Amino acid sequence: MHNHHSALDLVRERSPERPVALVRPDAVALAGSWFQQNFKGEVLYAVKANPSPWVIETLRDCGITSYDVASIPEIELVRSVHPKARLAFMHPVKSRRAITAAYFDHGVRTFALDTHEELDKILDATGRAKDLNLLVRLHVSAEGAAYTLSGKFGVSVEQAPSLLLATRRATDELMGVSFHVGSQCMRPTAYQAAMAQASRALVRAGVFADVVDVGGGFPSVYPGMVPPDMDQYVDSIHRGFDDMRVHETTELWCEPGRALVAESSSILAKVELKKGDALYLNDGSYGSMFDATHSRWPFPTKLIRDGESSTLLKPFRFYGPTCDSIDHMPGPFWLPEDVREGDYVEIGMLGAYGVAMNTRFNGFGENDHSVVRDAPMASMYGLARRSIPTPRSEEPSVVRFPRAKGRKTRRR
Ligand SMILES: *Cc1c(COP(=O)(O)O)cnc(C)c1O
Repeated sequence: MHNHHSALDLVRERSPERPVALVRPDAVALAGSWFQQNFKGEVLYAVKANPSPWVIETLRDCGITSYDVASIPEIELVRSVHPKARLAFMHPVKSRRAITAAYFDHGVRTFALDTHEELDKILDATGRAKDLNLLVRLHVSAEGAAYTLSGKFGVSVEQAPSLLLATRRATDELMGVSFHVGSQCMRPTAYQAAMAQASRALVRAGVFADVVDVGGGFPSVYPGMVPPDMDQYVDSIHRGFDDMRVHETTELWCEPGRALVAESSSILAKVELKKGDALYLNDGSYGSMFDATHSRWPFPTKLIRDGESSTLLKPFRFYGPTCDSIDHMPGPFWLPEDVREGDYVEIGMLGAYGVAMNTRFNGFGENDHSVVRDAPMASMYGLARRSIPTPRSEEPSVVRFPRAKGRKTRRR
C-alpha cells in the first residue's frame, strides 16, 4: 500500500486512473479503543462490514480478540491475520460442511441458531460435541434503525422458549441469546427495549443465559443522519443488562461492524464527464457505493483539485462506470459548481459496507489502496466529534449534509 498525507497529495503525485480506497488505520484504532474502554463486556468485530486484513490487524493491535464471522472464507481470513482469535460463527443458517470445518479445522466453538433444525444440524455436524457455546438469535422488534435485520433471521419471542430450553440442554458450556436491532440504529434505547424482550423469553423458558449478545447496529455519521453520542448507546445497554434476570457470571457481548470501520475509508474517484448536474465517475454502485444507489444515502463529498475552485456549492448526481442504468447515485452530493472532467472527488464514510461491496461487473471495480493521515470527514469519537457538519450548518465552506431520503429497509 502507498502512503500519502491526504487525497490531494496523492492526486499531485500520481493522478490515479483507477479509483483509490483511502484508508485510515488510526480511525479504526480510535473506534476500537473506544469500544474496548467503554463497553463493559466482550467486543466482537463483525467482519463483513470491512474484511480488509489491515482492519483486522489494527483491531488486533488495540486488543480486540473476538470476531463475528459468517462463512469459512471469513474464518480463514481472520485466522490468517490473528491465529489466536476467538471466532463466533453467527450466521443462523450454515451448511453442515461449514459447521464441521469450523469446529474441527478452525477451532470455532461458538455458533448461532434460530431453529430446532439448525440446532440438530450443529450437534450432528460436530459429532455431538459437548464444548459448544450456543447462541439463540431472537427476532426483536426495534425501532429507529436505517436497515432492519430481523426480516430474515431470528426466532420470535413467543416461539423462543422451547428453543431456548432445547439449546440449554444441548451444551455444558455457554448458552445465550443474541439479536440485532438493525444497522445504523439511530435510537440508543432500542437496545434496552430489545434486552427487555430477550429477558421475557428467558424467564418464560425458565433458563438463565450465560451470554447476552446485543449484536451490532451502532451508528456512524452520514449526511442527514447524525446520531446521539455513542455513550448513550452503551449506557442503554448497561442499563438493559442490569435489568435482566441473569447470573453474576453472565457475559455481555456486542458485535459492532459499521461503528468500528465506517469513518476509516473513503474513495477517491475521477470525474470522466460532466453532463448538467450529473457527474460520471469511475466508481459507482457496483464498486464501493452500493448504499448510495440502493439506499439512496448521500455520502459526504469533497472536490480534490490541485488549484482554485468555486466556493459556491451545488447539488450533483453521480453515475458509475458500468453500462447498467441502475448504476446511478441520486445524492444530492454537494460540490463546487465548477467541478469538471478530470477533477477528483473524495467520497467519505465508505469504510463500512462500502469498499467491501466492490464487484468486477463490466470490467470495472479494480481499486488501488493508499494509507492517508488526514482526519475522516466525520467522526463519532474523540475531539473530531465536535466538528461534524450538521444539516443545519450555514457555513459556505463546510460541506452541507442535506437530509437523507430513501427506503428504510433492506437486507444485511
Ligand atoms: C452485520 C452483522 C453485524 C454488524 O452490524 P452493524 O450494523 O454493522 O454493526 C453484527 N452481527 C451480525 C449477526 C450481523 O449479521
